[in-house]
Amino acid sequence: MKEERIYMDWNATAPLLPAARAACLSALDLAGNPSSVHGEGRKIRTLIENARRDVAALCGAQPASVIFTSGATEAANWVLTPDFRMGKTPLTIGRLYISAIEHPAIREGGRFGKDDISEIAVTSAGTIDLAALEAALAAHDRQSGLPMVAVMLANNETGIVQPIADVSRLVKAVGGLLVVDAVQAAGRLPLSIEDLGADFLIVSSHKIGGPKGGGALVARGEILMPAALIRGGGQEKGHRSGTENPAAIAGFGAAAQAAVDGLEQRIAAVSAMRDRLEAAMIAAAPDVIIHGRDIERIGNTCFFTLPGLKSETGQIAFDLEGVALSAGSACSSGKVGQSYVLSAMGHDPRHGALRISIGPSTTSAEIDRCADVFARIAARRRLSGAAA
Ligand code: PLP
Repeated sequence: MKEERIYMDWNATAPLLPAARAACLSALDLAGNPSSVHGEGRKIRTLIENARRDVAALCGAQPASVIFTSGATEAANWVLTPDFRMGKTPLTIGRLYISAIEHPAIREGGRFGKDDISEIAVTSAGTIDLAALEAALAAHDRQSGLPMVAVMLANNETGIVQPIADVSRLVKAVGGLLVVDAVQAAGRLPLSIEDLGADFLIVSSHKIGGPKGGGALVARGEILMPAALIRGGGQEKGHRSGTENPAAIAGFGAAAQAAVDGLEQRIAAVSAMRDRLEAAMIAAAPDVIIHGRDIERIGNTCFFTLPGLKSETGQIAFDLEGVALSAGSACSSGKVGQSYVLSAMGHDPRHGALRISIGPSTTSAEIDRCADVFARIAARRRLSGAAA
């Protein structure tokens, strides 16, 4: 009998949850435009507002501060701008400071000019260098406008959790704004915009089991907001025009609700499986390097280098054995590049790295099979003496 494939690429996208699928389908079957005042419009508006409450609960925020977008990339392009409003009063942001390990959605810097973006180094442990950030903020030119800092909560490649509360203290000491990309942390860590001390959080539907093409920018309040990126009919209180996508929003809401329910038990169960897999990997190949193993990581991610195994070769070998995982840094064309995250951490990225990322529906049997596949690939590597 042909063995089932094993999906271990949850950080790329999580499988659609049945509850999210059901919510999408019910929204698709409703005829109204959410901006219409008739009964049909009000019915679909209710779906959107319920989802807004669920996404707010996921982020420990107020529903009125959740603005839906087409995904995290759009939210990043919207919020990363020199052009803000405090109520009706314009407010200028002079410079954007980002960590060296941000996702390309942040790295590209939104609407900031390339000369107005500074990159802050990370330590060899994979966390932002707080002293470097403090020094950069101390040198910030206040005449140009306020500083904005964007740091992710959990890295998509390594899973390493960033010290956001410390970052926030530094940013607040100079009166700056803090944007936190919480895409990989949502549903994997408890999230609270207040506790993090962030001004804005960015979240994405498809990383938590919702449909692709949904996301949100979540603000601390409602007064301080970036100038709109998409202008038109004034939907989402004028922040994001265009008829809402009720199916994506309702599915996102259902996934957010599922992410909040029983979060702590799920985190413990997923981490235990990841740790068991890592123990088996180390037993099979003691020279495996598991990046970030000694530091706080989200519990679903294992980013590793097997010396002598190139990431392209490794990815194909796992795929042929039925395991879908990701090479360190896969750009949109599907070509495997060197991991800028590992380079930023000062590792030799020559052989690259592979990322296993699991989720709540990953089974023990899948962990065992993945460990077996890993052991076979590691043994073959030794047999072929492949050191190139
Ligand atoms: N930020 C991080 C950390 C991500 O991992 C991703 C997706 O890979 C994004 C942003 C972009 O999310 P979206 O696909 O919703 O645009």
